[in-house]
Amino acid sequence: MRIRTLFALLSLLFYTQLLSSQSFALVIHGGAGSIQREDLGPARDSLYRKALQEALATGYAILDSGGSALDAVESVIVYMENSPLFNAGRGAILNSEGIAELDASIMDGRDMNAGAVASVRSIKNPIKAARLAMERSSYVLMVADGAEHFAKDQGLEIVEPEYFITPARREWYKKVKMKDERGAGRIMLSHPAFGTVGCVALDSRGNLAAGTSTGGRGLKRYRRVGDSPIIGAGTYAENGVCALSATGYGEYYIRGVLAYDVAARMKYGGLSLQDAMHEVIHQRLQDMGGTGGLIGVDSEGNVSMDFNTNGMFRAYRKKDGQAVVKIYGDE
Ligand code: ASP
Repeated sequence: MRIRTLFALLSLLFYTQLLSSQSFALVIHGGAGSIQREDLGPARDSLYRKALQEALATGYAILDSGGSALDAVESVIVYMENSPLFNAGRGAILNSEGIAELDASIMDGRDMNAGAVASVRSIKNPIKAARLAMERSSYVLMVADGAEHFAKDQGLEIVEPEYFITPARREWYKKVKMKDERGAGRIMLSHPAFGTVGCVALDSRGNLAAGTSTGGRGLKRYRRVGDSPIIGAGTYAENGVCALSATGYGEYYIRGVLAYDVAARMKYGGLSLQDAMHEVIHQRLQDMGGTGGLIGVDSEGNVSMDFNTNGMFRAYRKKDGQAVVKIYGDE
């Protein structure tokens, strides 16, 4: 009996040691685009860096205490959706009617389960709805009023469309809409806006997860949906391979199935995460004429953040490492 107890204690000790020696890593982005020092200015530069630091800290604390990659991804994205600085949740860009219309998705690398919502206008945190779609429904993607109905049934917080609109976005809308109507007499099909958010994580059990949330492209019409809620295009996670989140001109990511393309190059071609991502961004996306970026983490905790734009709000932190926060292309 005593020997058995001793054995159980030793196994527990061994398991805890093993867990604490496992690496974990977290990478986040807050959108890619034409982000220049002179346009952003020092005050906004430090606002963004602080928000990235805080978002990263939220996820790191979860991973550091043995939490799951999935929980870390959801918490980071909730933080960024609640921040007015990013094009996700509150602060999202507005569509042609002056309304915030949101897309989000999440994927669990353990069982490759996934959930997503698209074109929703009243769910406070679309990433929470995406997770519930994954965990409490047999569907992957729900859209518009159907997704809102589901979120309400699940007890998620529902807000007035006004909640999402910040003074800066309203100002922007007035300006571009007027210009557009004066110009061609029609509303542009879409308008780039950096600030989509995403997060990928590897936890200490070796599980991978990825998530993305966005307001999409400014002045979008006809309930246009981008790549962010499309699994394989804007978000992908598979244990043993990698977890990825995209930002950029969504139509290119959908057509090129770009997140999955990175994973496929690793799986079938034996490429490293960094090389696979480099090829996808600087060859495939570039050749298609698209712009944007990707973040990723592999099953060993190697991280990569790549883009073909001037900048990408981005940050990462590995177990026992310092937080690294960057914005511009020359950093
Ligand atoms: N990928 C998003 C979309 O096309 C936008 C972005 O990431 O900037 O909806």
